[in-house]
Amino acid sequence: MYIREQLNEIRAGIAAAAARAGRSVESVRLLAVSKTFPVGDIMQAYEDGQRLFGENRLQEAMEKMPQMPPDCEWHLIGPLQRNKVRKALECGIALLQAVDSLKTAAAVSRVAGELGKSMPILLEVNIDGEPSKHGFSPEELREQWEALVALPSTEIRGLMCIPAPTESPEDSRPAFAALRALAQELRERGPLPLPELSMGMSHDYAVAVEEGATIVRVGSAIFGRRGQ
Ligand SMILES: *Cc1c(COP(=O)(O)O)cnc(C)c1O
Repeated sequence: MYIREQLNEIRAGIAAAAARAGRSVESVRLLAVSKTFPVGDIMQAYEDGQRLFGENRLQEAMEKMPQMPPDCEWHLIGPLQRNKVRKALECGIALLQAVDSLKTAAAVSRVAGELGKSMPILLEVNIDGEPSKHGFSPEELREQWEALVALPSTEIRGLMCIPAPTESPEDSRPAFAALRALAQELRERGPLPLPELSMGMSHDYAVAVEEGATIVRVGSAIFGRRGQ
């Protein structure tokens, strides 16, 4: 019951933010971040129509995926170790959202090629320059763009970011605007359409939608507080 109410509140929040920004509500997808939550909780969201789920650890995703109906779509939103790329590609993850280096992207491309497929990925950008963070710096991404685009068996669908936690949702706006601007710059440089911008979490998803997010990743506002 609780999960259904939370989900409906987030859906309404997304619709309102999209309307404020003059965007269609269909242009934003809600990804329910189910990390640490049991399959029973995920199933409640499923029964309320949720199909897109995200896990940040591959192992946890691989345990939960077979227990859920096959029409769910799963994204890996946490970092992918290069020695786990094959597992990630074989288990049915639809989108790797946190590819954070050229080396990892190259590993994904190599394994996808061996498996005879092309793997959709997002590139994680350390948009606010936090030294402790994963991701391409904007400068690295510009420098490595040609090499990334040349990888034969990845399909780079866009950018994602996890800005530093902020006091107020408004404080995330500059980071989201910067990610949108970077995606636009890379689109103009070509040759990829880069349709996806994955940004915004429980406390700031509405601001992210106003700034152009096409995927918002919401966990605790749907499923409740996470233990450790
Ligand atoms: C956990 C997580 C989220 C969701 O965070 P909430 O604040 O619970 O909404 C979003 N994105 C990533 C990458 C995460 O690891």
